[in-house]
Formats: sequence, C-alpha cells, structure tokens
Amino acid sequence: MDFSRVAPCDGDRDFQARAREFLDTHVDEAALDAERSAGTGVLRDVHRAMGADGWLRAEAAGADAGGLTTVQQRIWDLERRRIGLPLERWGSTLMILQAVEGFASPELRDEVVERVYRGEALLCMGYTEPEGGSDIATCRTRAVRDGDDWIVNGQKMFTSGADVCQYVFLLANTDPQGGRHRNLTMFLVPLDTPGIEVRPLHTVDGDSTTVTHYTDVRFPDRYRLGDVDDGWTVLSGPLAAEHGAGAPADAGLTDVTMMSNFGMAMAVSADSAVRIAGDPDEDGTRSLDDEAVAYRLGRAHARIEAALSTPNLFGRVAIAQTMRDLAPELMDVGGGSSVTGAAGAEYLYRRAPLIGIYGGTIDVFRNMIAQHILGLGRPTYAAPTV
Ligand SMILES: Cc1cc2nc3c(=O)[nH]c(=O)nc-3n(C[C@H](O)[C@H](O)[C@H](O)COP(=O)(O)OP(=O)(O)OC[C@H]3O[C@@H](n4cnc5c(N)ncnc54)[C@H](O)[C@@H]3O)c2cc1C
Repeated sequence: MDFSRVAPCDGDRDFQARAREFLDTHVDEAALDAERSAGTGVLRDVHRAMGADGWLRAEAAGADAGGLTTVQQRIWDLERRRIGLPLERWGSTLMILQAVEGFASPELRDEVVERVYRGEALLCMGYTEPEGGSDIATCRTRAVRDGDDWIVNGQKMFTSGADVCQYVFLLANTDPQGGRHRNLTMFLVPLDTPGIEVRPLHTVDGDSTTVTHYTDVRFPDRYRLGDVDDGWTVLSGPLAAEHGAGAPADAGLTDVTMMSNFGMAMAVSADSAVRIAGDPDEDGTRSLDDEAVAYRLGRAHARIEAALSTPNLFGRVAIAQTMRDLAPELMDVGGGSSVTGAAGAEYLYRRAPLIGIYGGTIDVFRNMIAQHILGLGRPTYAAPTV
C-alpha cells in the first residue's frame, strides 16, 4: 500500500474550490435532514444539478476517457462525504452502467447513457427475492419470450431505489430447467412499464428500500443485456464491484474497500463521542478523565483505523463488524448526547446491522474469504446430529 502524501497542484486546488462552491450552492442542511428521514439515497434536485453541470459525466467517464483525474475523483469523494451527501442511488447507477456499456445494444445505450449523465435517469438493482436469499442464482422471477417482447412475472425484495429510479437492472430466470448460472438473463427495464408495482419498505436506520411485484410486465427485446441465459456474465462486473472484490488502485487514492464511506461516518461519530466525553459537566468533571472511558474511546479509534486500512473483502467485513461492535460502546460512552443527528452514535447503532446485510451479509463474505482467498474448501452444511 502506498501511504505517500499527494501534493495537490494549483489545478487540483481550483477543482476543490469549484466542488465546494457547487455543493455550497446546491446542498442545504434542511434537504440533508429530510433525506435522512426519507432514506431515498439521493437528493434529486442536487443530482439533476450535477448532471446539468457535467459532474456526473466527468465522474462516470473516468480519467482515461477525459473525465475526473484520480486526484480530482478523490477530492470530489471527500467533499461529498464531508457534507454527508447521500450517494447510494448514484453508486448503484455507476455499478450498473458498466454492464450497460459492455452489454446493451447501441439502441439501449443511446436511450440510457446520456440520460444518466444528465442526471435524468438512475438505475437500481433487482436481484434479491423473498425465497432466494443470499443465493441470488436461485432466481424464480420468470421472463418468457413472446415474439419481439419479453413478459416478466415475479417478485423482488429489497430493490432499493425502485421508487426514485427510472430503470431496474433485473435478474430473471429464462430457463427453469437450465443448469445453475446458465438459466439467467439480465434486463434493464423502465420502471414505468405497466405491471410493475413498487411498495416502499422502511428499515430501522431510516433507510428506504422497496418490494417490487412484476405482473405480466411486457417490454421489447432491446431492454435485454447480453445473451439469453448468459446473465451471470453480465452480472459478474456489477456484483464484483458491489462486493468490493477488486484490488485498490496503486496510486493509494481510492478507497481500499467498499463501504469505506460508512467507515468514515463511523470515524466522525467516534470523534463526536470524544468531544462529548471531553466536555466538562457543571461541576467541571469530564468523563474522558475516567480511564475506562479513555481506554474504550482509544480502542474504538484504533479499531476504526484498522478497519479503514484493511483492503477488499477483508475490509468490508472489518468495517461492518467494527461498526456493530463499536456503535453500542460509543452510545454507552456518549449517553443521551449520542442522539445528535447523523454524527450521533445512535444513528450508527441503527445503521450497523444493515451495513452487514446489503450487498451480501458478512457471514457470506466470511465464507467467500475462507473458500476463495484462504482456500479452505467449500463449506458443507450437514444436518445437525441429535
Ligand atoms: C436495506 C437493504 C437494502 C438492500 N438493497 C438491495 C438492492 O438494492 N437490491 C437487491 O437485489 N438486494 C438488496 N438487498 C438485499 C440484500 O442483498 C440481502 O438482504 C442479503 O444478500 C441477504 O439475503 P437475505 O436477506 O435473503 O438473507 P438470507 O440469505 O436468507 O440469510 C439469512 C441469514 O443466513 C445467513 N446466511 C445465508 N447464506 C449463508 C452462507 N452461505 N453462509 C453463511 N451464512 C449464510 C445470512 O448471513 C443471514 O444471517 C438489500 C437489503 C437490505 C436490508
């Protein structure tokens, strides 16, 4: 890992000033508060303004295609995190966009990509089903060919953003008799297609996800991505990105793992707990002077630092587990003062379980690490002996 410091050039400083000015102009605390209650994962007006100002195109294009340089991307990431801008919907859109670029017909690319760049279209992930659980390859949502169209019937759980996005990246079964991973096809379906019903589902952290029902949903074949029954190939890129399976870039300027943004939110919360513990009471006592409190806060900071420095799948597990372990500690130390908005440990406490569920549970990731990285073999789930 490269820990060298990067000296920003004048252009980078100008870029940072421009980013701050944009965010100061378009994002206000009331909108952030409202989003924290609604949990939509996007500030739509700000997102559209980003599209109009060219920020989305520059970020999606990346350095090689004349978009943001690596340093600019890091600055842009940090500036948005500094103010707590919700980016969940844009994050999933970027992951899906790589499949659209790689597998959509030219006609579909023309329809979707420019709309995404302009901030007019967001894309969400429709993989999980009520019965399927973590193993999304057991998909039962059925897509049947009818002339030039497809007809879809089924149900998806936890399609986050289906209520605010314009397209769903839909995993469907196109051959119920086919072999595992060889019977699935991916589609990018406009969410205003008749027959799609989206029901909001609120989670304990204030997030909002959805249940989606598909009843005789008919759309043309141009909304298919990749070959029929080869959806697993199309899905593999977005899934790897969501799992954080890739190695961090050499320049040392990218997050070393997925969910680093939540890791940084945890660091902000821990800093806030230190400030609270350092505030003297009416009689001048500071809880930070209690060695037990100081020890717990010190240990919390060390664990956060370690989690944030741990790469790829290991880091993802480390961040989720650290958050689960530390959130109650920080609440305990902060007492009633923990309930103070986004930086409060109470908010962290409600978020912690979910960070270890979406995009794959930490148990599943631990198994993946054991099997694929440590080479410990495939787990067997034998029936318990009684
Ligand atoms: C807030 C939220 C947002 C989400 N957003 C999306 C989204 O946008 N799109 C989408 O498609 N899905 C989404 N999901 C679904 C999420 O990816 C799944 O909930 C997750 O993969 C777990 O699946 P499950 O809930 O069916 O649990 P199950 O798979 O039924 O798991 C139940 C328990 O069994 C354990 N378990 C299961 N399999 C294994 C295994 N192989 N090894 C060890 N333990 C195992 C799990 O860890 C868990 O404790 C979201 C979920 C939440 C909570």
